Amino acid sequence: MLMDKKIKSRRRKVKFREEIKIDPRGHRIYGPGHTYWTGSLRDGRDRGPYPYYCPVGWERYAFHVNDNYDEKFKGWSISYHGTKFTYGLSILLSGLAPARLDEHGPGIYTTPSIIYAAHPRYAEIKRIESSDEKNLYKIGQYVQYVLECRVHPNKTKVGPETLLVRGKATIDPNFSNNVIEWATKTQGNDIVNFNDPNSTVVCTGLMVRVTDNHPGLLRESQWWYSGHLCGDKTCCFLGVDYNELMKQKFKGYGMIYTNKLNEGIST
Ligand SMILES: [Zn+2]
Repeated sequence: MLMDKKIKSRRRKVKFREEIKIDPRGHRIYGPGHTYWTGSLRDGRDRGPYPYYCPVGWERYAFHVNDNYDEKFKGWSISYHGTKFTYGLSILLSGLAPARLDEHGPGIYTTPSIIYAAHPRYAEIKRIESSDEKNLYKIGQYVQYVLECRVHPNKTKVGPETLLVRGKATIDPNFSNNVIEWATKTQGNDIVNFNDPNSTVVCTGLMVRVTDNHPGLLRESQWWYSGHLCGDKTCCFLGVDYNELMKQKFKGYGMIYTNKLNEGIST
């Protein structure tokens, strides 16, 4: 019985290894001086009824998804899903997704706001200490991963945030807190199953944010403090001790850092 399970999980891994490929043509750095736009993108592509804002401060590694990309995703909207460090890292290192993302039960939860997806409850923050990761990042840097997805608009239900932020803070000035979480019916399919023509959620890339200071000190993270942030390590994956982050935040009288990629944007 145990053996059976092992064999099954290995088979599943091999399947993903073959399916996830990084497509260098889709590589983007988002921010002034790189790929950058203000407001909702108007480039003539049909991304469904929802706006697509520039994910400033993030870098995208695109997956090879479908040769008829534009045709396949006509009318589908872009959304994000925060993910664990090891999951994102393993995609970058070997193109391998180690686990199913079935924690959400029958639907997959995504958000049109990368600012919401980057909350440490969803996108684990990791401080690079040493060893395996040092070929990709410098020791002391902070890294977060968010999956970029396309969701089928007819299978997607729009709803409020679930961090219980309510009226305490505006999460993202581009989206009301009441429409910031989307649930897409997957019909039993898998989020990373690129080749299934019936899939209603498809992962199209890995978004990576690398910062020299803790991302909780970024301007776009300030809603965490009035919205939701806690020292429970099974809830908010801060990468550092909660009290250490608070010390850093208030050390400079609440000094806010700007992501390198945000430089040049007047706020
Ligand atoms: Zn928490």
